[in-house]
Order: sequence, then C-alpha cells, then structure tokens
Amino acid sequence: MTAIEGLQAALNGLGLKAVEARLENLLEQASKKEPSYAEFLQDLLSCEVDARRTRYLRARLQLAHLPFIKTFDQFDFSFQPSIDERQIRELRSLRFIHEASNVILLGPPGVGKTHLSVALAEAAIQSGFGAYFMTAHDLDNDLGRAYREGRLDRRMRVYLAPKVLIIDEMGYLPLDDLGATIFFQLISARYERGSIILTSNKSYGDWGSIFGDPIIATAILDRLLHHSTTINIRGESYRLKDRKKAGLFPQPGEDAGRPAPFPATERFHNGPRRQGSTSPRKTSAPLTAPGRSENPP
Ligand code: ADP
Ligand code: MG
Repeated sequence: MTAIEGLQAALNGLGLKAVEARLENLLEQASKKEPSYAEFLQDLLSCEVDARRTRYLRARLQLAHLPFIKTFDQFDFSFQPSIDERQIRELRSLRFIHEASNVILLGPPGVGKTHLSVALAEAAIQSGFGAYFMTAHDLDNDLGRAYREGRLDRRMRVYLAPKVLIIDEMGYLPLDDLGATIFFQLISARYERGSIILTSNKSYGDWGSIFGDPIIATAILDRLLHHSTTINIRGESYRLKDRKKAGLFPQPGEDAGRPAPFPATERFHNGPRRQGSTSPRKTSAPLTAPGRSENPP
C-alpha cells in the first residue's frame, strides 16, 4: 500500500470525505506553495470544516420547510419605496432574534412579504438559528388535527422549538373558534421566548375578522406586537409588474400612480371565506384563551 493509499483509507475510515475527495489537489498545491506543517494541516482540516458547515446549513434549510429560497440581494427595493431600508438593515442584523421579538409584514398580495420573510429566515439559518416556515392555513390544519387527536401539546413543540417561526398568509382565510384559541396559545407560548415572522394581507384593524372575535384578536395582537417591528408595504404587486411587461395586462394610461388591480386568483384569496368550523366549546380538553379561563387584556 502506498502512502497515498494508506492516507485515503485512513481518511475514509475517519469519515473525512471532503479531504479524501480533494487529497490529490491539496497535496499538489502543497508541493507548489510549500506551506508550513501547521498551514498544511489547517488547509486540510478547514476543507473538511467548510464542507460540514455547508452540509449542516443545507440540512437546516431543508428542515425550515421554506417554499423557495430568496435572499435580500434578490429583492429590488427600488420597486417598493414604501419599505424603509434602515428598518431592513436593522432586521438583517438579526438582533430581533436575540431579543425574541417579532416581525410583521403587512401588505397586499405580491409585494414581497413572503420573499422578505424567507430572506430573513435564510439569514437566520446562516447564523446558526433554527427556523420553520408554515402558512397560517397549514398551521391551523395541523394543530387542529393534533388537538382532535389529543396530541396538541406534543405537536405544539414543533412550533415552539425553532428560534424563528414564520407564519405566512395570516388572514387569507379566517380561523374558526378552535383555530383562534390554538393560535392564541401558540403566540402566548412563544411570547418573549422565540421570534415570529408573520405576513398578512390584513391591517391590524381587520384582525377581528380573522379570528371572528375582537377579544381574542386583541389578546393575540397585544402579545404579538409588544416586542415587534411592523413593515407595512404599500405598493404594487411585483408579479403584476412582470405580467404587465409581458403585455398580459394592457392598461391604458398606466403609470398614473394608480394601484393596479389584483389578478383574479389573488383576489380570490382575499374573500372572507369561512371554513367549516369545530367549536372548542363542544370539545373536551381545556384550552387557555382570553375571556375564557383568563381575563381579557
Ligand atoms: P407576497 O408574499 O407579498 O404575496 P411574494 O413575496 O410571494 O409576495 O412575491 C411574489 C413574487 O415576486 C416572488 O417571486 C418574489 O420573489 C417576487 N418579488 C416581490 N417583490 C419583489 C421585489 N421588490 N424585488 C424582487 N422580487 C420581488
Ligand atoms: Mg406571500
């Protein structure tokens, strides 16, 4: 067995796959540059460390369940002048995560709420924080099912564990009483412990209609907003911009500063539809909700 073969076997045995894959390269470089022993060892090991970090981040990204990967660099801030870039810079420092404070992105469809929340999640993951993305609708379905099956507490841990929880599209569909109560529990449990990034097409004044009950809406907003940053995006849909460019949305006299109409599919999501509801009052296990087992704030 040659020295190289022995080395390869050892690297393989130790699971140092990145070094093994680059061994010839590393040796060739070393014979040219003639680094010190320490430098050579450092080159060798940092190759493995980098590869592991990349693998770890990729796994974290997968776990985060993001709908797509978008970064801040891919966001055209000039298209959305209502966004205060200073605020974005502050958020990018990720101090809000250390402070367990929340970020709420409000605005009509297509203005980049999901893009920005994904970019924040991606930045958080790069800095070693755990993140988890869910639409409000899926969250409601998932926790509602867990409640009916008597495993709400266990399931809730999935949403309490990550340092950053992204709840997308709050308010597109109203929640029933059980959904509102469970949502209140989730917000209360994360309060001052972990950040929530939430997006919604509804302004705070309309939140009563999401929860069907102004008292629970107030209680949720109270905790959500206590430590929070709100980004209110008042602008045109970016999706619409592309379609307009493609000539699919001929608009006589456009650019007159008039907001463009939402495409039909997006308007559809805005409709106040109410799903078939399960009342928590008819179910057995007690849930903590304001006005029920606690005084309203
Ligand atoms: P929202 O969640 O507000 O409905 P999205 O974040 O899903 O909107 O944005 C819709 C699409 O347009 C996404 O592909 C997103 O990356 C893109 N987009 C939105 N705003 C911008 C922007 N200012 N610059 C670049 N891409 C944008
Ligand atoms: Mg969105």
